Amino acid sequence: MQLLDGKATAEKIREELKLAVETRKSRGQKIPHLAAVIVGSDGASRTYVNSKVKTCEKVGFKSTLIELATDISEEELLAKVNDLNLDDEIDGFIVQLPLPKHIDEHKITLAIRPSKDVDGFHPENIGRMMLNLPCFLPATPAGIVELLDRYAIETSGKHCVVIGRSNIVGSPMSILMWRNAKIGNCTVTITHSRTKHLDEISKSADILIVALGKPEFVTKDMVKDGAVVVDVGIHRVEDASRRSGFKLLGDVKFDEVAPKCSFISPVPGGVGPMTIASLMINTLRAMDLKGN
Ligand code: NAD
Repeated sequence: MQLLDGKATAEKIREELKLAVETRKSRGQKIPHLAAVIVGSDGASRTYVNSKVKTCEKVGFKSTLIELATDISEEELLAKVNDLNLDDEIDGFIVQLPLPKHIDEHKITLAIRPSKDVDGFHPENIGRMMLNLPCFLPATPAGIVELLDRYAIETSGKHCVVIGRSNIVGSPMSILMWRNAKIGNCTVTITHSRTKHLDEISKSADILIVALGKPEFVTKDMVKDGAVVVDVGIHRVEDASRRSGFKLLGDVKFDEVAPKCSFISPVPGGVGPMTIASLMINTLRAMDLKGN
């Protein structure tokens, strides 16, 4: 069994991005600038946004964090999005989800200019992804593709099972795995909460991508010998034996599944760091596409 080490791979990508920034600087070109909008004070969202901003600093990108009150109106948030669309200094921006219930997430996503949509959630980017046209890929699935690519995982002709069909992970992931691309050309089965006999389906997977959001759901009986397993789930679970008081678990029961796998991504240190690395890659691309 070999680990799909997202932490080390993301570190390598950060070094590559740093070099790209240095080269741009030495040529007197603009430095990529990412803006992140956060509404409210949800702890998990704040942690995610902070690590995105911190990564910008690490690679030498500019970043702007825009913190808005939970009770901001939908109109006010749309106005902020429009300001960012029009701001030439900002190459790409994200609006951290989830948003408070009184704000329609779809409306906000639709308002983001596709050329600045570095999260890759706008329908135009999703449509272009379907058609294999240049676009911003959603960060988590793009990070998984990058990870599989850097570990030279053969995907062509393989059976890929995706567990979960969310708009940000499972659905785009399934598209990327069937597309005609270097990492792709799989026969894909996408499964969800209504799927029957999931264990039989998952056991037939050469590549199993797990994103259902239930801690340690996938056990060894659900995985074929020699499979490649990518664990997207991330859960903070209380653990009194640790100084922090918690531990992080994935959607896969790592200790019992790992020995059966050819490759497996750990939690933490697997998909998480790759997601942020992809956001940085998208931001650099957003700037390049603008022709700066
Ligand atoms: P979600 O809750 O939006 O979607 C979960 C999906 O799983 C749904 O489509 C549902 O139909 C499916 N599902 C639920 N129960 C199932 C079952 N018993 N069998 C088969 N399918 C089932 O979740 P999400 O946003 O896609 O996130 C999934 C997990 O990935 C979460 O733990 C989340 O925290 C994590 N995540 C991690 C990253 C990262 O960067 N590491 C990014 C996004 C999400």
